[in-house]
Amino acid sequence: MPTQYPHLLSPLDLGFTTLKNRTLMGSMHTGLEEEKGGFKKLAAYFSLRAKGQVGLIVTGGISPNKAGWVAPFSAKLTNQKEVSKHRLVTDAVHDAGGKICMQILHTGRYAFHPFAVAPTSITAPISRFKPWELKSKGILSTINDFAKCAHLAQQAGYDGVEIMGSEGYLINQFISLKTNKRADEWGGSYENRIRLALDVVDAVRQKVGKKFILIFRLSMLDLVEKGSTWEEIVYLAKELEAHGINIINTGIGWHEARIPTIATMVPRGGFSWVTKKMMGEVSIPLITTNRINTPEIAEKIIAEGHADMVSMARPFLADENFVLKAKEGKSHLINTCIACNQACLDHVFEKKLASCLVNPKACHETEYNFTPASKKKKIAVIGAGPAGLAFSIYAAERGHEVELYDALDKIGGQFNMAKKIPGKGEFEETLRYFDNMLKEWNVKVFLNKKMSAEEIIAGKFDEVILATGVLPRKLNIVGIDHPKVLSYIDVLRHNKAVGQKVAIIGAGGIGFDVAEFITHDVEENFEAKWGIDKTISSAGGIKEAAEPKVTKEIFMLQRSRGKLGARLGKTTGWIHRISLRKRKVNMLALVEYKKIDDEGLHILVDGKSKLLKVDSVIICAGQESLNELQHGLIEAGQNFHLIGGADVAKELDAKRAIEQGMKLALKI
Ligand code: FAD
Ligand code: NAP
Ligand code: SF4
Repeated sequence: MPTQYPHLLSPLDLGFTTLKNRTLMGSMHTGLEEEKGGFKKLAAYFSLRAKGQVGLIVTGGISPNKAGWVAPFSAKLTNQKEVSKHRLVTDAVHDAGGKICMQILHTGRYAFHPFAVAPTSITAPISRFKPWELKSKGILSTINDFAKCAHLAQQAGYDGVEIMGSEGYLINQFISLKTNKRADEWGGSYENRIRLALDVVDAVRQKVGKKFILIFRLSMLDLVEKGSTWEEIVYLAKELEAHGINIINTGIGWHEARIPTIATMVPRGGFSWVTKKMMGEVSIPLITTNRINTPEIAEKIIAEGHADMVSMARPFLADENFVLKAKEGKSHLINTCIACNQACLDHVFEKKLASCLVNPKACHETEYNFTPASKKKKIAVIGAGPAGLAFSIYAAERGHEVELYDALDKIGGQFNMAKKIPGKGEFEETLRYFDNMLKEWNVKVFLNKKMSAEEIIAGKFDEVILATGVLPRKLNIVGIDHPKVLSYIDVLRHNKAVGQKVAIIGAGGIGFDVAEFITHDVEENFEAKWGIDKTISSAGGIKEAAEPKVTKEIFMLQRSRGKLGARLGKTTGWIHRISLRKRKVNMLALVEYKKIDDEGLHILVDGKSKLLKVDSVIICAGQESLNELQHGLIEAGQNFHLIGGADVAKELDAKRAIEQGMKLALKI
């Protein structure tokens, strides 16, 4: 049968070896690299992705020496003892028919430890450690360490290495005038600043011979001041080819750049134009990357000549069988990465093991066992939000007979509101996935069916799962029933009209989302909004950002002290804060709510009275569990299980809801 994705699934011949298709599983640190016994788990994790037919896998970054560590005791490859751990991974991938390269990552000034080194001793804005300036001798030994590390990777059975030269890490730091102020042969002219990159490539190639894949991750768009210009980047790409690199991978944006590059508001394939500019400048294959999450967009990118190969990292956390499903005509069953960062990057930055919000099995492959249930049960699931959906598909997969009820006319619960927020359209993909999986596993779905305790009892179920979610918190403010007061549900689900002057009570995730929703009057251009210069003629490819056109005046309020939005996602909170600042949202902390009346919202700010003359007050003040069914069930002696918001409303998010649903389905 002809495939829907002929370009994506065609092999890529590198001369001495051939990749089975054009998909690359991009480098991702998971935390398993440092865990005791973690390499066994990594082997299981990568092996599943290899079985899922990924063309080439790249490991998370492994340091060539201690200075290059991400943090103290991060993974490194510097001796024979470490080689044997890596062997577990390479053997598992090769046994599964895959190919794998190891990424060599020297963090330079991004290192989170006191031995950090850099071309010049300038602290990174995202680090608290001032790096030591590398002396010439130190540079030469660093080059040797890269070469030794690559050689050890070869001995460990890897098919190649990726040299990390982008995202603002050591090699990139040498290239940019922002971080390299040296006056010796490693600084000054562009030729001097790229010397480290080329000397590393030469030293590595010399150690590993010709038949070993060398990928260089080249920063094609720095997105920081004093970054490279396009002319310089093309020059370096040509040099890399001449020095024996087999494939160039695209790097977009330094970690310290204040422009989103992978979060959910970045348009799909939103940076493939950068790689396209490079096509034809070199004759070796080019890989493009960032926010590519479906086979359709990946196919389009290759078919339209934007790149030879497509790198996807998080999409392979979300679904290990991404390529296999695409190949077998089952792309409707792909669990799509929604680019939320909540369980992957946020976890890594919080020093927790990475996983995936939509696929909690990721990086836990050896723990979660999806064996058939020993006894088939008839199960009622009340509530088709993320918790109820996850429970239903996994319980049905294990052989149970599952009936899923929801009071609304569609599945998804609160995700139906989340997906309406500008930049969160990807959430629809999770609902598409669940919908198709419910059909796949023959879950009986009953919509527009608000269940009562009596109906549940009458159904004579072996197990009852309450996944009824939450209700918005009711506030006790004078005038709370005034017609100008709306809940976030009024705004997002019932499309109630919002005035020109608005106060939002509560500055959590939903408060921020509502502010974004009501200030998006017109379609915005991503590059203009964030100041990206598509010509890359300016250093770093940045220019002045366009002012968004916002007609409403918004006040966002919280009772507690401190920065609003401080508890938003570790790797995405800054984007939401910058975005609302651009939209001129007034943010007030230390607020006490006194009264709502025709005049507006009366508050105290740090003890001082203030009247906000607003037409609408939107309450986004958190939630409480919806557990109205519990009482009747307890009285009738009916056992039940609580998951998601129905269990605990505090700090509820879809990550917990889905994980809780899955874990219960595994043991029921
Ligand atoms: P819910 O999603 O609330 O689902 C409960 C379901 O139960 C509902 O469909 C309801 O109709 C049904 N129900 C209730 N009672 C009955 C009954 N008696 N009979 C039948 N059906 C019943 N989370 C994140 O992790 N990341 C985000 O970026 C994010 N963004 C959000 C943005 C917005 C605007 C909103 C509102 C929420 C967002 N969330 C986000 C939160 C996330 O959606 C919730 O944590 C998640 O939906 C909770 O899942 P749940 O299954 O517990 O409950
Ligand atoms: P939340 O994050 O807990 O925020 C609630 C807000 O209401 C806080 O600002 C809180 O600040 C305020 N508040 C709490 N009790 C109040 C009271 N009695 N009176 C007045 N104000 C009160 O909850 P949420 O915004 O409703 O979000 C719900 C969940 O959805 C969150 O757990 C979040 O993780 C998830 N979500 C995530 C995202 C995301 O992008 N990751 C987006 C949306 C939602 P003060 O107490 O200081 O006033
Ligand atoms: Fe994608 Fe979110 Fe899963 Fe990370 S946690 S892989 S961003 S869906």
